[in-house]
Amino acid sequence: MEFSTRIIHEDNIKDTSGAVMSPIILSTTFERGEDGISYPGGYFYSRYDNPNRHALESKLAKMENGAACVSFASGLAAATNVFQSLKSGDHIIIPDDTYFSIRSILDQMFGAFDISYTLVDMTDHAGVENAIQPNTVLIWMETPSNPSLKITDIEAIVSIAKKHNCFTVADNTWATPFYTKPTDLGVDITLHSTTKYLGGHSDILGGALIFKETNERYERIRAFQKLGGAVPSPYDCWLLCRSLATFVARMPIHSNNAMQLASYLEAHPKIERILYPGLPSHPQHSVAAKQMQHGYGGMLSILVKGDRAAALKLAGELKLFTHATSLGGVESLIEHRKSIEGDASPTADNLLRISVGIEDIKDLTEDFKQALAKL
Ligand SMILES: *Cc1c(COP(=O)(O)O)cnc(C)c1O
Repeated sequence: MEFSTRIIHEDNIKDTSGAVMSPIILSTTFERGEDGISYPGGYFYSRYDNPNRHALESKLAKMENGAACVSFASGLAAATNVFQSLKSGDHIIIPDDTYFSIRSILDQMFGAFDISYTLVDMTDHAGVENAIQPNTVLIWMETPSNPSLKITDIEAIVSIAKKHNCFTVADNTWATPFYTKPTDLGVDITLHSTTKYLGGHSDILGGALIFKETNERYERIRAFQKLGGAVPSPYDCWLLCRSLATFVARMPIHSNNAMQLASYLEAHPKIERILYPGLPSHPQHSVAAKQMQHGYGGMLSILVKGDRAAALKLAGELKLFTHATSLGGVESLIEHRKSIEGDASPTADNLLRISVGIEDIKDLTEDFKQALAKL
């Protein structure tokens, strides 16, 4: 069966009422059996596991073709648990344009534990290999990257990692399993901020790690999830399962809209450059065409002709694109990334990142037309 069918029909919770849709089980504690030892329902305390979380993790593992999923209260809680599975003295390679809070976690939380990292341009394979040290254990990928939409050739990086006995993580938040399945390309752990496309409505915070194999690192991270307790609530898990049911219906609209908007803006005289992997002008378009299926996703960045003020003016003049952070919801958002990343960030002053929603593309294009006319 195709995964869209399985997401709707499998792993749902059946109670005695005949309810067609899964109930939300809020109970934090579960009853022991008559023997006083066993737990006939399979659950004993909600931090360890609960039915809604179990359903969510089963669905997410299937979507990414993984052996298991461990879910968290946020995408960054998921990332933190990966870093907690390392040993003091370990070294990591991360993309030079990784989601900026990944660097903040490493600097502010793990620097004191002697975990070091090197920033590398993941499109430069020789550079990645040269950055490997004797204590390098992990190569981190993020494709498309944030906010420059660079495409990493996952198979190429995985083969470098294997050669040097490193494990790999791919942050698949932007591509989603609809467009890229890192597990199939050999990645050990696929990370999601489920806050984004998987949630899809900008109203749930969550994270997940999907494992290619249930190996020793999986066991460690599963134990950390239960002990550290950065877990999603039953209600969040239920909401997310509800979002997953419409995931395959939402994604093509995001992607088709993004492709059309990117083409429109690329031809516009007030736009300096478009960063969208679906455009033939994108520097890694051929890698994207090989690695991504069905399309290129709903995210793009634009460089406005002019300076920071021109970019902020454009963001302010748009009516349907809300100037706000985050991405992946049904509503279109636009954001001046430099303002949020700070002066130390390498992001260009005239860059705007766009999360293209599922509104009608005619309205989205019209909105840009009127806003660009005011520059
Ligand atoms: C949002 C995001 C994260 C962080 O996830 P949270 O759910 O906000 O903690 C990590 N990686 C990428 C690519 C993201 O877009």
